[in-house]
Amino acid sequence: MNSRPLILYFGSFNPVHTGHIAVAEAALRHFDGQADLWFMLSARNPFKAEADMWPDERRWALLNEALAGRAGMRACDMELHLPRPSYTVHTLEQVRAQEGTARPLYLLMGEDNLEKFTAWRSFETILDWCRVLVYPRATPESGAPDRAVGGTEAVPRLPESLAAYAHRFILLRGALLPQNSTYIRQGAARPQSLIGHTPADWAKCLQWRGAQAEALREAAREVKLATVGSQVYLRGLIEYSNICRKNCYYCGIRSGNPSVSRYAVTEAEVLTAVENAYRAGFGSIVLQSGERQDAAFIDTIERLLRQIARLSEGRLGVTLSLGEQTRETYERWRAAGATRYLLRIETSNPALYAQLHPEDHRFDDRIKALEALKAADYMVGSGVMIGLPGQTEADLAGDLAFFRDFGIDMVGMGPYIEHRDTPLYARRHEIPTLAERYELSLNMLALLRLIMPTLNMAATTAMASLHPQGREAALRIAANVIMPNITPGRYRENYFLYENKLCICGSEQDAKDNIEALVRSAGCELRYFEKGDPKHYYDRVANPAPVAPSDNKSDGVDHFKTL
Ligand code: SAH
Ligand code: SF4
Repeated sequence: MNSRPLILYFGSFNPVHTGHIAVAEAALRHFDGQADLWFMLSARNPFKAEADMWPDERRWALLNEALAGRAGMRACDMELHLPRPSYTVHTLEQVRAQEGTARPLYLLMGEDNLEKFTAWRSFETILDWCRVLVYPRATPESGAPDRAVGGTEAVPRLPESLAAYAHRFILLRGALLPQNSTYIRQGAARPQSLIGHTPADWAKCLQWRGAQAEALREAAREVKLATVGSQVYLRGLIEYSNICRKNCYYCGIRSGNPSVSRYAVTEAEVLTAVENAYRAGFGSIVLQSGERQDAAFIDTIERLLRQIARLSEGRLGVTLSLGEQTRETYERWRAAGATRYLLRIETSNPALYAQLHPEDHRFDDRIKALEALKAADYMVGSGVMIGLPGQTEADLAGDLAFFRDFGIDMVGMGPYIEHRDTPLYARRHEIPTLAERYELSLNMLALLRLIMPTLNMAATTAMASLHPQGREAALRIAANVIMPNITPGRYRENYFLYENKLCICGSEQDAKDNIEALVRSAGCELRYFEKGDPKHYYDRVANPAPVAPSDNKSDGVDHFKTL
C-alpha cells in the first residue's frame, strides 16, 4: 500500500514555465521532499476555439522536458485519455483506482480558484478525497504573503462558502507565481521541442501569435544570450550607388524605373564617411549598391577597399553588398580587404524567384554566386524578403532550411515593402497586412536564431519602417547587428528600394547616438571598434560540412546537437 503523499497539479501548461516549477517545488518542500507531484495535463477542448492553446502533443513534450531530472515531479497524461469534458472528480476517481484509496491526495491550486470552487462538479467529494494546497497569487511588490494563523499550517483566505471546509485547505508559504506566462528559463524546455525538427514544423511555428509567439521569441532570446550574448555590432551602411543594370520586380531603384535620379557617391565622399564612422567607433562598414559588372565599377570598388584598409590600418571590417559578380571579381575584392559579402537569395523557392524577376535573372546564378563567395573565403551573408506576394509559410520555412543547409554566416531578412513604381505593386492586394508581415518577420528571426544559434543577424531598416520599435524588437529576440545609414545626406532620397523607407539624416555621430539608445532599450550592449565577425563562420571553416546547397529538405535533427 502506497502511503506517500501524491500532489496533483492540474493545468494546461501552455507552455510550462518557471512559475509552475516554483509552485511545484514549494509544494514538495511542504512535505520535505517526501511526496510525489504529478503535473496533470488538461486536454485541449476540441469544441472551444482556443487559438492560443498548443496541441496536446506539444504541451506534453514540453512538460516532459521541463520535468526531466526534477526529483519527485512527473507529467501525467491521464486526462488526455478520459472522456470529455473532463471533470476533476472523474480524474481523481481514476487516480484513486490506480493508486489505491489509501494514498493521501493533495490538489495544488492557485488562491484565485477558491472563489468558484463550490461550483466544481462534486466539490464535496473532491474535498473528501483530497486536501488542497493553495499557493498565493503574489504580486511582484508584495512577495509571497505569509498568513500563519497559529499551529504549524497556514490557511488561505477562504470564501464564506468554504468556511466549513477550512481544515481541508493548506496555504503554501513562500511560493511565488510570476504574473505572466513567459517561457521557462534555465533550460527547462529545449528549443527543438518547441519548434520541432522539420521545415514543416517551422511553417506551423510561423503562424503563431499571442502567447505562442511570445514563447517562441523568449526561447530565441534565451538562445541568443547563451550563444552570441547581448552584444550588438555596428555596421555603417553606405549606399554607394543606385545605378543598377538589373530589373528586379520589387525594387524601387531597378533599371526600369525612369523616375529615379541616378548617382554614385564620389570616392572622396565615401572615404570621408568611412573615416568619420571609424572615428565614431564603428567596427565595420557596408558598401551597398545597385548591380554593375563593368570594369570601371570593379576597379573603383577595389581602389576604395585598399584605401579603406589603409586609413583604418585594417582594423575596420568591410562588407560588400554589390550583387552577383564573377568569382574572379569576388576574389579581387577579397584580396583588397573585403571579408564579408551580403547577397540575398530573396526567396529559396525557385518558382517564386522566377515570379519576382525577369527571365534573365536566374535563381541558379544566384546560387552559383553564393557558392563563389564561399569559395573565395568570404563570410557569406544572405537573406530573404518576408511577406512577398505568392509566398507561403512553407516557402519561408524553406528559406530557413536553405540558410542552414548552405551554411550561411550572416542573415539580413525583413519584410517586403511595396513600391508603387515597380511591377510587383500590381500584386499588393495579395500580401499580408503590415502588422502581419511584422509578426511573421519576428517569428522568422526567432526561429532562425533557434535553428542557427551562432550566426550574425541584422535588425533591418525594413523592420523599422514597418514598426517604430521594429529594430528594438528584432535585437531583443534574435538580431545582433545593426546597420545605421551613413550615406552622405544628399544622396539618401534616391535610394528608395521600397516606400516609406526609414531615413534618419544626420552625422555618423548622430547615427551612433540614436542607435546607442535603441540598442540599450532592447536590453543589449552596443560594441564599438569591434568587427563582430560571425562565430558561425569560424565554426564552418573549422568543420566544413559537405552539404548540397539546393537541398532544403534535410530533417534538421543533427543541427540541434549543438544547442
Ligand atoms: N543590388 C544589390 C544590393 C542592393 S539591394 C542586391 O540586389 O543584392 C539590397 C536588398 O534590398 C535586396 O537584396 C532586396 O532583398 C532588398 N529590397 C529590394 N526591394 C525591396 C522591397 N521592395 N522591400 C524590401 N526589401 C527590398
Ligand atoms: Fe538592382 Fe539590387 Fe534592386 Fe535588384 S534588388 S534592382 S539588383 S538594386
